[in-house]
Amino acid sequence: MSQLTPLIAGNWKMNGNKSLISEFTQVFNSQAIDGIDVLICPPSVYIESLSQQVINNNSVINVGAQNVSEQMSGAFTGEISVDMLNEVNATFVIVGHSERRAIFGETPELVAEKYKMALDNNITPILCSGETDQEREDDKTFDVIATDIDAVVNLTGIESFKNGVIAYEPVWAIGTGKSATPEQAQAVHHFIRSHLAKYDAEVAQGVRILYGGSVNEKNAAELFKQNDINGALVGGASLVSDKFMTICQNAQSSL
Ligand code: PEP
Repeated sequence: MSQLTPLIAGNWKMNGNKSLISEFTQVFNSQAIDGIDVLICPPSVYIESLSQQVINNNSVINVGAQNVSEQMSGAFTGEISVDMLNEVNATFVIVGHSERRAIFGETPELVAEKYKMALDNNITPILCSGETDQEREDDKTFDVIATDIDAVVNLTGIESFKNGVIAYEPVWAIGTGKSATPEQAQAVHHFIRSHLAKYDAEVAQGVRILYGGSVNEKNAAELFKQNDINGALVGGASLVSDKFMTICQNAQSSL
């Protein structure tokens, strides 16, 4: 892991409840962990509760959302705006998770709009990108990722990665128990940084690139030894406080 402050982000997806929020904010109190950024993205109905519990329990957890609308307001049933996220003190948002791309049909252009909307409203976007099994077999991994990054650059410029985060999330590794090897992940992270460097070398050096895909308390340490891995986006293991804590401690030890 390079010098950037590691970010360990939990994506709870459609899981969790208020008592889990209470448990996490107590376990991750201000004495529990330092030197890294810890983030939980619960289902949107629980964001306010998480923000409140963070204050009540003097917790180090940052509060995030799993999705945001590219629109400001209006007749968009079921959607959530940046103003709403700001009002409940969410400071990060995941955009373009592969489940949103595959199940809800989000395109690279739409995801770029969400990225811009978040950034323009002081919420840090975490841009997810990764290839399917088939795309990896067809040697398309780098093309898929370059397309997602270029959509953001085309819409809002390379500077927008100064205040954003990228998560490499191979679709074949998500929720499968089959993580990318540290070497596989590092190769893609290196590609991402080199691709950004074609636009701006300084921005490329400063952006945090997380790995996501079956990260757990056993494989995290090896992943964090890689030069271009600056943390993790964790699904399943982020629902169990002691597993998530071990992942965070591994990130801390890698500093
Ligand atoms: C994810 O959904 O972003 C993810 C990485 O899930 P898991 O850790 O369960 O593979």
